Order: sequence, then structure tokens, then C-alpha cells
Amino acid sequence: MDAEASPPLSISTHWRSALAAWRGAWSRAGKLALDIALPTLCVACREPVDGEGVCAGCWAKLSFIAPPFCPRLGIPFVYDPGPDMLSMEAIASPPAYTRARAAVRYDDVARTLVHALKYQDRTDLAPAMGRWMARAGRELLENADVLVPVPLHWRRAWSRRYNQSGALARIIERQTGVKVAPEALRRIRPTQQQIGLSRPQRASNVQGAFKVANSEQSQIAGRRVVLIDDVLTSGATVDACARALLRAKAASVDVLVFARVVDSHRTPI
Ligand SMILES: [Zn+2]
Repeated sequence: MDAEASPPLSISTHWRSALAAWRGAWSRAGKLALDIALPTLCVACREPVDGEGVCAGCWAKLSFIAPPFCPRLGIPFVYDPGPDMLSMEAIASPPAYTRARAAVRYDDVARTLVHALKYQDRTDLAPAMGRWMARAGRELLENADVLVPVPLHWRRAWSRRYNQSGALARIIERQTGVKVAPEALRRIRPTQQQIGLSRPQRASNVQGAFKVANSEQSQIAGRRVVLIDDVLTSGATVDACARALLRAKAASVDVLVFARVVDSHRTPI
């Protein structure tokens, strides 16, 4: 039997319990002090911030995309050309998907957020980013049946531990009630990083790289899909994904991303 389990009541026991209580209070106070001393820092500028990961100053610097924009590609127009006017890009090379929308332009602050989510495990950023996406994609999400995140190849998923597009899709699911099919699309061959590749190289790099898994066909066939990704650059990746989903008989494929490159010649990743 443990001698300490039923000790005779003594001065030392009283002291010991008093000490334990004092220690508990001290550690609680210590935690509180730490919370006060170490506030969350803005992910973009490292200034203290409460809550969402971006301070008011950086939030103001994000370029949220608002109408007028191309109804097909979501590229912002400098002036309003009138209803249903498509961008030159949409007319010259129409994508496999129906519509694309993005929350923000891919600029410095957006790039910092995307990189923090993708490479620094800052999953705490996903809720704010996902909410902005849900707002930007309201039109697409109203009639959607299923959300499909752009998958990582398993080798990259392994080294990165989680898929940032999947994390964003989960937030949008919570916001809208549209379910995520996280395993619907598979990367069936590894692809080179798209960074530094020309537009035609990007397209051939991802061509045939995606497939709807046989076991997941029923989640896709006849359904209106919204494909979720973090960044849209040339659109080659989402286009290849959309083709795979349409081959699996998706009724339609729309694309919703956090950020899109608006001038791809001037804003390299
Ligand atoms: Zn900031």
C-alpha cells in the first residue's frame, strides 16, 4: 500500500496540499500570462493580431475580387462591359470547367497566406481563407452537389502531411453544407512543380495526371462539382482535373480558388 495514500493528518500534509493548490494557481496564472505575452502574430507582417491570422492593415491590402469580372473565368474587368460579356481569354481558349471564381488576387499578402498554409502548417489560416472563398463562390455553391479538392500526389502528401485544398474544402463544407468528396480525384502520376514552366509546359505537365477513382465514380456521375484549390495560375491543373471529372460523367464542373493570378506574365509564383 502506498504510504502517501492515507497519511495521518499532519502539519506536513496541510503544507503539501497548500503547496499543490498554490502550484496549480501559479501554473494557471502562468498560462494566462503567456497568452497575454505571446499574442498571435499576423502571418503576413508579424504584428500582433487577435483571431484570424491577418491584421487589419494586411487585410486591407488583400485585393478581394468583386464584379465586374468575366462570368466564365472570373478574371476582373477594368470596366463593366455589360452583362454576359466574356473575357478574351475565355473566348480564345475556353476551359473544360464552366466557371471559375477566386476570393482574392494573387499578390504579396495572398502569396504569404498561401505559403504559410501550404508549407508552414498554418492550418489556423484555413477558416478565414475558406470563408472568403465561400463568399466569392456563393453563386457556384448554391447549386453544387459536391466539393472536390485538387489532390496532391501521395509522395508530396506524405512529406507535407495534409492537403491544403482539402483543408479549405472542409471549411467551405462547414459554411455551406455541401459535402466534400476528399478522395474522389487521384493524381495517377507525379507531376513536376508548375513553378517556372511556360503555359504550354504547364498544360502538358498535368495532362492525364488525374483520374476519378473507380470506387468514387458514384460520388461524381450526374453531379454538379465544385473543384477546390488554393491558387489558380494558368488554370492548367484545374482544367486537367475538370476533364477527369467530366470523363467520370460529372454534370458540371466549376472551380473555386482562394487566389488567382490576374496577370500571369507579371506575377510569377
Ligand atoms: Zn499584418
